[in-house]
Amino acid sequence: MANKKYVYHFEEAYGLGKELLGGKGAGLAEMTHIGIPIPEGFTVTTEACNLYYQSKKSLPDYVVEEVYTAIKALEKKTGKNFGGNKNPLLVSVRSGARASMPGMMDTILNLGLNDISVEALASETGNRRFAMDCYRRFILMYTNVVRGYPRLAMDKMLEEMKEKKGVHLDTELDAKDLEKLVKEYKEFYKKVIGEDFPSDAKVQLISAITAVFRSWDNERANVYRKMHHIPYEWGTAVNVQSMVFGNKGETSGTGVSFSRSPSTGERQIFAEYLPNAQGEDVVAGIRTPLHIDWLQENMPSVYKQFLDTVNRMEKHYRDMQDMEFTVEEGKLYFLQTRNGKRTAAAALKIACDLIDEGLISEEEAVLRVDPSALDSLLHMAFDQKVLDKTKPIVTGLPASPGAATGKLAFTAKEADERKAKGEKVILVRAETSPEDITGMVAAQGILTMRGGMTSHAAVVARGMGKTCVVGASAAVIDEEKHILKVNGKTYGQNDVISIDGSTGKVYEGAIALVEPTLTGDFARIMKLADKFRRLEVRTNADTPKDAKQAVEFGAQGIGLCRTEHMFFDKERIFHMRKMILSSTVEAREEALNAILPFQEKDFYEIYLAMLGMNVTVRLLDPPLHEFLPQEEDKIVELAKALKLSVEAVKDRISFLHEFNPMMGHRGCRLDVSYPEIAVMQATAIIKAALRAQVTLGKPIHPEIMIPLILDVKEFRFVKDIVTETADKLIAASGQKLDYHVGTMIEIPRAALLADEIAKEAAFFSFGTNDLTQMTYGFSRDDATKFLPDYFEKKIFEQDPFQTIDQRGVGKLVETAVKLGRGANKDLHVGVCGEHGGDPVSIDFFERAGLDYVSCSPFRVPVARLAAAQAALNNKKK
Ligand code: PEP
Ligand code: MG
Repeated sequence: MANKKYVYHFEEAYGLGKELLGGKGAGLAEMTHIGIPIPEGFTVTTEACNLYYQSKKSLPDYVVEEVYTAIKALEKKTGKNFGGNKNPLLVSVRSGARASMPGMMDTILNLGLNDISVEALASETGNRRFAMDCYRRFILMYTNVVRGYPRLAMDKMLEEMKEKKGVHLDTELDAKDLEKLVKEYKEFYKKVIGEDFPSDAKVQLISAITAVFRSWDNERANVYRKMHHIPYEWGTAVNVQSMVFGNKGETSGTGVSFSRSPSTGERQIFAEYLPNAQGEDVVAGIRTPLHIDWLQENMPSVYKQFLDTVNRMEKHYRDMQDMEFTVEEGKLYFLQTRNGKRTAAAALKIACDLIDEGLISEEEAVLRVDPSALDSLLHMAFDQKVLDKTKPIVTGLPASPGAATGKLAFTAKEADERKAKGEKVILVRAETSPEDITGMVAAQGILTMRGGMTSHAAVVARGMGKTCVVGASAAVIDEEKHILKVNGKTYGQNDVISIDGSTGKVYEGAIALVEPTLTGDFARIMKLADKFRRLEVRTNADTPKDAKQAVEFGAQGIGLCRTEHMFFDKERIFHMRKMILSSTVEAREEALNAILPFQEKDFYEIYLAMLGMNVTVRLLDPPLHEFLPQEEDKIVELAKALKLSVEAVKDRISFLHEFNPMMGHRGCRLDVSYPEIAVMQATAIIKAALRAQVTLGKPIHPEIMIPLILDVKEFRFVKDIVTETADKLIAASGQKLDYHVGTMIEIPRAALLADEIAKEAAFFSFGTNDLTQMTYGFSRDDATKFLPDYFEKKIFEQDPFQTIDQRGVGKLVETAVKLGRGANKDLHVGVCGEHGGDPVSIDFFERAGLDYVSCSPFRVPVARLAAAQAALNNKKK
């Protein structure tokens, strides 16, 4: 639409929102509005990005015209000329999506330089070296980012030039060298691209804007988006901003600053500064920056202004800010501010401190902590007793806390491949770049030799909650030979190291790990979460150990106790096999009777671990042949023990074989065929409960759950077996025991006929693993083979087995809740599939009106917080 506006100057954009302007654009508009000194510029909106994709990856003329008008206005405002021979206006072109995606998309700096404007810049700044340096950086970035040519060859040209001159640092090259490099770069450009390097600044600008839009769809951005649930359709905005230069000599510089520590959350400004440098030097970790004290000592008045502005911005945004700033010949500019990425520990501390400082409410504090990030706090740390006696081999910067141990992997690809083989690896790099993201995901932890706390590795690792140490500069890496040298000792791919992301220390070998302590800020936010949430949080636990762990994490009951795992134990599997191979009811009952005491003991211990909280036990679920041996020697052994011929055993095994076991003789179908299984399991559940309520001195409410139900008659059949068994036992015990029989909703038919089933069932628990499998009609075990094709082709953006498909599977959930409650107003409804621990899915379950979610023990705190956020967010709406 030609009459729609796609370009906004910062001063006219305040209040238009992140959806349109992206986070960075909205931030720049807001900073302009509150009077923070920033370089002038404009934002090309996310709608322009979507338009670009709708127009077959080209920018319609009317948007191009709007950009030209905006650049003209910028020339006027700054009094500079774009691409001109006097007072040249140079701009940066940066991406800025609605959610921050650090390093995932592309940036172009110093745009507007050509053979003419570079001379103007040189004479006006009196610094020819600086002008040539800007120009060569620009050509490099343009070739790489806009034209997509790898920077390796051009980086090599720079290295060769340094080698020829016998110098080590870029800064040791003079204007003449750089001018020569510019020439070489341009010749190279012509050779590989097949045309001259564009000298028209307007051409440069439009190409750069489209390149940024294109980078929204690059591989690393797609990986990051999937990890962080950022929809593809959001698009990115582009910010065009006049350049200020941090590399104009010693009174210039660039820095990055957090208003509080992003690692610990401590209330102290955390900033790094690099004199005579451009921002990319810091972000890419090419040079290791200095502590901000340098600025205080050398430029005290700039430092004071810096400090005041940081404090002002934090008060204004009421959250920890991550800022980029530049000093150009003694004048301070802020380039951007955003809510800073932080570790989970820092997020908790900052949220608590901001409540105490009166800046935010308790509700806001609960909304500020990313539930998925809690994971990193719940896992192991190094055993301090071992650490006290162990000397680190090298120390870097503590970029992202946690403890990780593994063998060295020297490339992202290697990390990825070795992880797939089940190895634990630490990704070791000189510095990471955005291409390394898949390797960072695969590794236990990341170690880099270069870069500071704000380098790519540090920022991305913190975002992922992954242990990371950066800037271990005393270690020397040879990425080609795959070796790391520390203190004269060489470590290769088979050597194990341990890295401590909380202290920056690196150790040889594997250090023992210990469980985390979950007190202080963690406990405080969890308590607040419990205050605000509506959904009950239960756990999926099959053993007393898991149950205890879950209780420590705040579980309010067991939503799913899978009983099949209990049969694989060495002592029990024999009886189980005997039961399966029996051809008469009597023989099956005999085998089941041998299993009964084991089952009863398991349940008894689980009830005790749960201290009287509700426990939902599911009857046997998987197909029987999963329990049978496949290897010849095991078959012979079994035949011997059962006094059967090997042939007879083999015949039975092949009889039980199924072509599609996931849709075969499993779940309640087993109880229909062999009611004695349900009798034995109900007996174990009830007997254990009767015993446990005496031990605990309080009532137990067992919930018996029947899996894979698809019809009310089928449910009634199994339920009758269970109740008959249970009622007899209870009557004989002389005790009172209040138990319930309910069902899982895992099959679309059950969801569609939920009103009929609800008349008989006390509760529903959505088994969204199977429900997703059955709704999509593809196997939960095999989908990983082809889902990547669906992601790549943008047919799916999320794995439906991890995050609930709200439109399809979700519709069945909503239907079943509505039908079920309509028929039985007391129906208790929960979910126990993997989705029960996924924050995005939990938001859906809140809206669908479920009573509880159930997830693995380590997800319980995540679910508690996510449930609170879901309640608060949906109350707001
Ligand atoms: C489910 O299907 O969601 C479920 C919880 O059961 P299982 O994963 O054991 O099939
Ligand atoms: Mg299931």
